[in-house]
Amino acid sequence: MLIVPEREIANLLTREASFDAVENVFAAMAAGDAYNFPVIREAIGHEDALYGFKGGFDGKGMTLGLKAGGYWPNNLEKRQLINHQSTVFLFDPDTGKVEAMVGGNYLTALRTAAASSVSIKHLARKDAKVLGMVGAGHQATFQLRAALEQRNFEKVIGWNYHPEMLPNIEKVANEAGVPFEAGPLEGMVEADVVISITSAFQATILVDHISPGTHIACMGTDTKGKQEVQAALLALATVFTDEVAQSITIGETQHAIAKGLIQESDVVQLGAVINGTTPGRTSDDEITMFDGTGVGLQDLAVAAAIVDLALAKGVAIEVDF
Ligand code: NAD
Repeated sequence: MLIVPEREIANLLTREASFDAVENVFAAMAAGDAYNFPVIREAIGHEDALYGFKGGFDGKGMTLGLKAGGYWPNNLEKRQLINHQSTVFLFDPDTGKVEAMVGGNYLTALRTAAASSVSIKHLARKDAKVLGMVGAGHQATFQLRAALEQRNFEKVIGWNYHPEMLPNIEKVANEAGVPFEAGPLEGMVEADVVISITSAFQATILVDHISPGTHIACMGTDTKGKQEVQAALLALATVFTDEVAQSITIGETQHAIAKGLIQESDVVQLGAVINGTTPGRTSDDEITMFDGTGVGLQDLAVAAAIVDLALAKGVAIEVDF
């Protein structure tokens, strides 16, 4: 069995490799070549943590496995650890024998950023100039860095529930040479693309905050009860997702469906757009939304790429197991 420790991942994995792995696996899912297993996600009643498993099998990429982990909201303050903690396990699809254990923290941030980036590539207007960020935590910095590569953005505008965290994303924009402005949520009407990546349980982005033609990537809602966007906004938008089953249970669409504002059949797999079997954006004033719930196959695809890179660079640790 191979181990790729968390400390090695940032030196191995590039945004490009992560983007390609995620785009390919979304396409494989829509083509019926790969499927995710039902997600287990539990509030364990300790440290306010949410812990669970996401797994799947990709019969095209031949990856089988799971990611175990979750979200510990007190980690940063109490222990100077990031709040998201996870590990990926890969198994040999021919034998069931464990193949690899891969640190999942940095991987999760990059694969989550890759998902919204893939959605921007396929759904945002080509002339998008202003990128709006709602959220400024750990994931937000990765989201912003990846999104800036997808269009010629001229400005980033940011809002965060905890304004003192905004310098996290301001720094990323500055490093990319794009001006940053902090402002109210109402200011998001100026944005052509909005990324929301918060741990909110109540909608912050309302219908009045979004202009026609905007693409919204909702990346924070990955659990029953979480919500970042007003349900009525989903009724105005064309809604895409990584996986419909997850979107309607743990993603942003759970609320609009519960209210009867949209139906399961209104939610489109992004992979079908990638494969060209379903249209994506059809007009310049259409609001498109990507409900990125985070699927196990994303983790497995990116972990498999990391194992290959680790082997090539000689940093994978081999253990007799
Ligand atoms: P973090 O703790 O570093 O940041 C949390 C963010 O949420 C901050 O911007 C904070 O200000 C904001 N926030 C907290 N309470 C809020 C509230 N009541 N209203 C509005 N905003 C609020 O967390 P992170 O690692 O950046 O993760 C952010 C979210 O993304 C989490 O909910 C996490 O579960 C989710 N996530 C989703 C995926 C996916 O694939 N979709 C992957 C990883 C993380």
